Amino acid sequence: MAVIIDGKSVAEQVRSEIRERTLLLKEGRGIQPGLAVVLVGDDPASRIYVRGKKAACEQAGFLSRELIFPAELKESDLLGVISELNNDDRIHGILVQLPLPKHLDSDRIVESIEPRKDVDGFHPWNVGKLFSGTAYHMSCTPLGIIELLDRYHIGIEGKEAVIVGRSAIVGKPLAMMLLSRHATVTVCHTRTRELAEVTRRADILVAAAGQPEMIRGSMVKEGAVVIDVGINRSPEGKLLGDVAFREVEPLASHITPVPGGVGPMTIAMLMVNTFNAANRL
Ligand code: NAD
Repeated sequence: MAVIIDGKSVAEQVRSEIRERTLLLKEGRGIQPGLAVVLVGDDPASRIYVRGKKAACEQAGFLSRELIFPAELKESDLLGVISELNNDDRIHGILVQLPLPKHLDSDRIVESIEPRKDVDGFHPWNVGKLFSGTAYHMSCTPLGIIELLDRYHIGIEGKEAVIVGRSAIVGKPLAMMLLSRHATVTVCHTRTRELAEVTRRADILVAAAGQPEMIRGSMVKEGAVVIDVGINRSPEGKLLGDVAFREVEPLASHITPVPGGVGPMTIAMLMVNTFNAANRL
């Protein structure tokens, strides 16, 4: 029987610590962390995420600005909005909700954010800092995974870590974070041969492929720590992870459920990054 990693309660703990530290920052130095979230268009999932981020800011005692624009917003106007936020001293974190409508160049928009305010950790400056071992803001979902491992006292140093998925927001930054914590890291993807052989080597196995229940029991070593990043919907509308939980749980030493595992950590780490952006001033 595996220990079920309770991401919901760890996220609540992290957020309540940030609330306390925010009170002290306000009292001690008169600084209130401020986060601006920019949403272009009316993608329903993005609206839910933006609402969640606003609620988290309010709970943490942050200043929260929500800027919502119609899908037709011109790129030059969006760049103008970001430039204003870059120069606004009350705003320490800027997040542009992705995906953006097709006519907007996401790379160009992300690159226009002042890197020290890029609390998503997507700006090439932050990506480069992570790769060079001098990280500043790190991508929230992989950072949340490291936080979960730490809070459960799961050692990383010297472990075989295997990540399934090489996206720029999860797999790749997580590989760098685990490497900086002295794991031996393998990153798998759609062209990986004999995937099960590779995943069976893992002491720490992270599934971030976006493929419902693709990690079967036969792919997991006994005693492995299994982290499931996947958020998938079954045809019946049920939320499914990338890990076949019922098969894998009896083998694992620790496992994250979906929902309630990695998911809640992302917003918690966004609060941490925004707090740090304000506290570093
Ligand atoms: P992505 O689609 O950008 O990348 C998926 C990666 O998985 C690719 O590198 C691909 O090569 C690899 N992959 C896909 N199928 C594979 C297979 N059969 N075998 C081996 N590799 C395979 O995905 P992403 O944005 O990194 O997201 C991955 C999953 O994590 C999604 O389900 C997403 O919803 C979820 N997600 C959750 C959070 C959160 O919990 N807060 C955040 C981001 C992403």
